[in-house]
Amino acid sequence: MIKQAVFIKSAADRSGWIEDEIPEICFVGRSNVGKSSFINSIANQNKLAKVANTPGKTRLLNFFDINKGYFRIVDAPGYGYAKINIKMKIKFGEMMEDYLMNRDNLKGVCMLVDLRHQPTNDDKAMYDFLKQCEIPVLMIGTKLDKLKRNEIARNEKMIKETLKFYENDAFLKVSNLNKTNIQDAWIEFVKIIEN
Ligand code: GDP
Repeated sequence: MIKQAVFIKSAADRSGWIEDEIPEICFVGRSNVGKSSFINSIANQNKLAKVANTPGKTRLLNFFDINKGYFRIVDAPGYGYAKINIKMKIKFGEMMEDYLMNRDNLKGVCMLVDLRHQPTNDDKAMYDFLKQCEIPVLMIGTKLDKLKRNEIARNEKMIKETLKFYENDAFLKVSNLNKTNIQDAWIEFVKIIEN
């Protein structure tokens, strides 16, 4: 499990990437999906990912050291936020594309989707892109606590069908509110890192 999580730095582009051999898992998802909450849940902290929400830092990659160099969490800006202008959207796309396509440290992506909703076109484009790049994905379905019992399997199936989900990728359903299945994520991180 995560014993220590420390914010290291933010980067606007590759000039800010860290030069070493430590593996990285990048976290992506639509704004409001529960990404900050999930990072805080797995790290057992309340405010770790809040740095990503401070104005001016929202369009940057945020690097966190986990367990003193075991791996890094790289928190990407939430996508699909309607209010950002086109220039920012292009810059965001370029930064993400460069990182996801060219970063040697990157071992896998943790992508978050809201279990209540059908994945958006942005979600589909992101997952398609990750699979084109042959990046292993851990899919985290958030807000499990908001589903009725009979919706759980149904929504998972609907999400997987919409995304054309690869069965080699892992899919976990979590609640950040109740901390359901949060520790299972650690097992999946280890698989990605040790692979
Ligand atoms: P981010 O924009 O992806 O970082 O999303 P946040 O972590 O800020 O969460 C967005 C909203 O969803 C907040 O109001 C959270 O309290 C709420 N939220 C996040 N995860 C869960 C969850 O598992 N269950 C419920 N019920 N609410 C959640």
